[in-house]
Amino acid sequence: MEKQQVKTIGIIGGGQLGLMIVEQARLLGARTVCLDPAEDAPAFRLCDEHIVARFDDPAALEELCRRSDVVTYEFENVPGDLLVALERKYNIKQGFRPLFDSQDRLREKNNAREHGLPTPDFEAVDDAESLRRAVARIGFPCVLKTRTLGYDGHGQAVLRSEADLERAGELLAVPCILEEFIPFDFEASVVAVSDGGQVVCFPVGRNIHREGILDLCIVPAEMPEALRDRMTERTRRFMRDCGYRGILAIEYFVKGDEIYFNEMAPRPHNSGHWTIEGATTNQFRELCRYLLDMPLEEPRLVAPTVMKNILGQDLEAAEALAREEHPDVYVHVYGKTVSKPKRKMGHVTFVGMTGEEYAARWADRFVK
Ligand code: AMP
Repeated sequence: MEKQQVKTIGIIGGGQLGLMIVEQARLLGARTVCLDPAEDAPAFRLCDEHIVARFDDPAALEELCRRSDVVTYEFENVPGDLLVALERKYNIKQGFRPLFDSQDRLREKNNAREHGLPTPDFEAVDDAESLRRAVARIGFPCVLKTRTLGYDGHGQAVLRSEADLERAGELLAVPCILEEFIPFDFEASVVAVSDGGQVVCFPVGRNIHREGILDLCIVPAEMPEALRDRMTERTRRFMRDCGYRGILAIEYFVKGDEIYFNEMAPRPHNSGHWTIEGATTNQFRELCRYLLDMPLEEPRLVAPTVMKNILGQDLEAAEALAREEHPDVYVHVYGKTVSKPKRKMGHVTFVGMTGEEYAARWADRFVK
């Protein structure tokens, strides 16, 4: 009898992304250990082992690495100095580089530009004086964002006139970036996974946000095929040029036939959740295949798909849907113990559904 070697994937972060990585790791025969500061982190219910600790606790991070054959992250703000030190000793397969490049909006946009992705015009601003200078050059409307720790529309303000400059003062307590406002037609994103040679890309999704949070992802993105191909090709090339490995999601603005890089995340992305049922392989599975040294699979779309994010205010509606019989409607509830409006509690994937059909048939089930 031959004894099989079971690999363990360590995951920094135990939120819903961690949970879905754990699900796919299991299907591939791997064990998982997760680290998260919350005792009731969603992934803890399913992973093999867990560590309750802060993301900046060096001993706990090291313990996670020690217990793992390979380590990944679903949390973007792990302190760099800790991760760099660990990277020298342990197999943090994606490395710190893509995380480092994405942790600061200024660095992120400079990096995108240097590697051939067009971005909105931008400038670093640190105080009222540099803000005035940047606004004079970029013009109204423009968007002021904190350079670090912003997410889902937090830490940013659209400036439309002089009067808004006063209001913006609060954000300037920390270093910021001022961006040209792009009156985009829509937003779209691409998730890619690379093993250093091959880069696989998931079909482009069109993203609809509500109050800064992703609400719907519609696939295929309703846009000219040539533009869709350009977005995928640029993403693939960007990943190669940057030498990134593992998973990367890029959010773009689309205006006419121009595409602009908005931001990136070197982890599975909310706009890729639809891939679990809507594609032949999914973003969590391909990340795990990369981590486990398996060859990557190029994903194909199963059918047009719509993903609806379930925030606290929609949880009851999602649970009701789950109790009903609807073929090709897949309800995911993350099992978070506290539900709040605007908190991501789950998502629903409608396979074999266009954006129009969703609007006509399902949109009314959720809070408007
Ligand atoms: P972000 O956190 O940078 O993704 O920004 C959150 C949302 O704000 C985006 O999804 C856009 O809808 C909007 N936004 C951010 N930056 C810009 C920009 N430069 N021009 C227009 N809208 C923007």
